[in-house]
Amino acid sequence: MRLLLVEDDRELQRLLRKALDDAGYVVDSAFDGEEGHFLGDTEPYDAVILDLGLPKLDGVSVLEKWRKAGKMMPVLILTARDSWSDKVAGFDAGADDYLAKPFYTEELLARLRALLRRAAGLAAADIEIGPLRIDTRASRVTLNGNPVKLTSQEYRLLAYLAHHRGKVVSRTELVEHLYDQDFDRDSNTIEVFVGRLRKKLYANLIQTVRGLGYSLDASPDDAK
Ligand code: CA
Repeated sequence: MRLLLVEDDRELQRLLRKALDDAGYVVDSAFDGEEGHFLGDTEPYDAVILDLGLPKLDGVSVLEKWRKAGKMMPVLILTARDSWSDKVAGFDAGADDYLAKPFYTEELLARLRALLRRAAGLAAADIEIGPLRIDTRASRVTLNGNPVKLTSQEYRLLAYLAHHRGKVVSRTELVEHLYDQDFDRDSNTIEVFVGRLRKKLYANLIQTVRGLGYSLDASPDDAK
């Protein structure tokens, strides 16, 4: 999952980036409203964390502009403590959730997971697909109740496909949402990881849709 973090406080940026990084997200940073607006307007993000008090363009205006342009990504706003009017303005501008500063990183991560679930139409933090269970809180996977050891790259790919279950996800989309901009887009890394997931889980879990991409929509009978 690829996130945009718009926060002008450098220290908070650094701390959040580290936490999000550790949680397996790909994170782009913006330090003012104009830069944040530009990135959210031009890059595909799975979710955005948006501070409201920003230089150049305030967070509420950034959000209003995105929504006016039809940008639908979930947005979590960061507000000053006790500023109820900020919260109201944020929600009216199209925010999906908020956190008041200071906050615990764990709560931010939990709220993010909830936003990403909702955007994917998932009800629970555990995603079940036939014999496969993905615990999105702990980033753990079991097959028929047995733990499966995945690398963080393999897990990210599996989780992304599981959040878009039943849809065909193109290779370009996967590269955009799972890797930094300096990733070599012509490499066959995605194919390699898909191959490893099929091997570690089961062959028919991920289908190749020729010329279009991949789809995760397995029936339990397909499992070994
Ligand atoms: Ca600020």
